[in-house]
Amino acid sequence: MSNIIGILGGGIGGLVSAYYLAQKALLTKTNITILLFEKSSRFGGWIKSNHLTKTYDKHIFELGPRTLRLKSGFSSLSNYPAINTLELLKNLQIFDTQFSPIETKSPTYRNRLIYYQNKLINLENLSIIYGGKPLKFPPFVYLLYEYFSPSIKVEDESIRSFLHRRLGDMLSEDIVEYLLDPLLKGIYAGSVNNLSAKTVLRKLFNSEQKYGSVIAGWNKMKIIDDKEQSIFDDLQHSNYKDLINKYSIYYFKDGMEILVQTLIKYLRSLPNIQLYENEAIEKIEFCQNSTVKLKTKLNRLINVDHLISALPSYELASIINNNNNLKTVLNRIPFVPMIVVNLLYSNKNIFPQSAFGYLIPSKEESYLLGVLFDSCVREQTDKEKMGSQLTVMMGGAWYDKLKLNRYSDEQLLKTIQNELKKHINLDEKPIHYQISRLNNAIPNYNVGHQNILDDLDTIIYKENLPLTLVGNSYRGVGINDVIYDARVEIEYLNLKEQRLIQRLEVN
Ligand SMILES: Cc1cc2nc3c(=O)[nH]c(=O)nc-3n(C[C@H](O)[C@H](O)[C@H](O)COP(=O)(O)OP(=O)(O)OC[C@H]3O[C@@H](n4cnc5c(N)ncnc54)[C@H](O)[C@@H]3O)c2cc1C
Repeated sequence: MSNIIGILGGGIGGLVSAYYLAQKALLTKTNITILLFEKSSRFGGWIKSNHLTKTYDKHIFELGPRTLRLKSGFSSLSNYPAINTLELLKNLQIFDTQFSPIETKSPTYRNRLIYYQNKLINLENLSIIYGGKPLKFPPFVYLLYEYFSPSIKVEDESIRSFLHRRLGDMLSEDIVEYLLDPLLKGIYAGSVNNLSAKTVLRKLFNSEQKYGSVIAGWNKMKIIDDKEQSIFDDLQHSNYKDLINKYSIYYFKDGMEILVQTLIKYLRSLPNIQLYENEAIEKIEFCQNSTVKLKTKLNRLINVDHLISALPSYELASIINNNNNLKTVLNRIPFVPMIVVNLLYSNKNIFPQSAFGYLIPSKEESYLLGVLFDSCVREQTDKEKMGSQLTVMMGGAWYDKLKLNRYSDEQLLKTIQNELKKHINLDEKPIHYQISRLNNAIPNYNVGHQNILDDLDTIIYKENLPLTLVGNSYRGVGINDVIYDARVEIEYLNLKEQRLIQRLEVN
């Protein structure tokens, strides 16, 4: 009889878990059956690409993620997550047809705009010697100060506190308020006051804690990074060196959801995988005989030998029936809501300059987190299309303070129009728009996040639970991170015994 592995959630985390499990079973010649359960009527979770009709020249509104990075961010210790996604695209045979990269040298990538004192400024114009807005001093002053700041051992701290400790009152203010605050709004929709330096700025934090200062450790960490071997033989930096040097980010020609559709098509072609949509899991119970009993919304009872949860942590907590410890720890991971508004304009020239978009520091007191210039990003494939489109992001950690739940769609649109008029002098009415209100859109890895992960590991190991946790709640929110993390977790799952045999400290 084959072992049954249940996967909860048909977002990208759940789908790639099924993919890597199936690959592993094939390689190790293990007989397993995979059952994947998705609550809604469609797979993909936050990945949603809305293809507009001919009237709107078939523009694509990305309602969730839209671009992937080719280089790792501050929180990753290696570039393997990015390379791993490229390998996945190649294996799914969509690399050649869908991969639409943006050159590192292009204005879209290079122009990094923030809204500062009533106008957009370009961080690209900052000179290391002479400085420039929004910094009060030339960048080398900050670097020197940091290098000579004494280091102390810290368990974890907020990003604001980390910068304050490294740069002091006066210097940290510029960096926190005008660089990190907007940057982290763009990734986590979260606040520098709460996000964990240890998790979110992992490279910088580790560098300081290990080598005495970020600057002193930076090159040493880079050398270690470059030498670090992946646990996966197919991931070689050298295979992608040229690509990564030339390009920085990419998107999918036919929209992000093509990745989901291709995965689904592939998974459905495999004999040992069953995908269930419209089948929410309402209750899970860990049994004495080391299996897990699942109860579906349709009252079906299913026993699985191992469970992979790709649900948001709070959702998993809500369906666990008989493990209060696990529930409590899972509920410690906070999520923030967001409002995403996609707008299409008939005018082709609505952008002040070619750029990825702009971010708005909290100090500027805007209703918006940031604005993405979609038509600039998708220029390679969309330049012949009529008009232009942009996306406005709102809410995140500021959702409650701004009372955004009280805004009707009309009020939201009006607010956005006023803000766009003020920021980029856009006085035009959109010809089409879509407002998506995303509850619990994104997890915030706040101070103590690593302790939560350690506590989860301890419960799972001590109680010998047949459970693997993947998805964006734990070890990375970017699509690359979610995919790579699932692959790593499955690599360390012993399919014969259905147990995690070990987890390495990766990324
Ligand atoms: C607005 C926005 C923009 C983003 N932009 C980017 C970007 O540009 N680049 C990038 O790399 N990342 C981006 N991200 C982050 C990235 O999209 C997410 O981290 C990632 O998609 C999360 O995938 P997941 O599978 O972990 O979770 P989800 O996508 O949340 O999937 C979880 C799935 O579980 C299902 N589910 C819930 N409860 C149950 C249940 N009881 N039973 C069965 N199924 C259930 C849900 O319906 C859902 O399909 C963005 C995120 C948001 C919200």
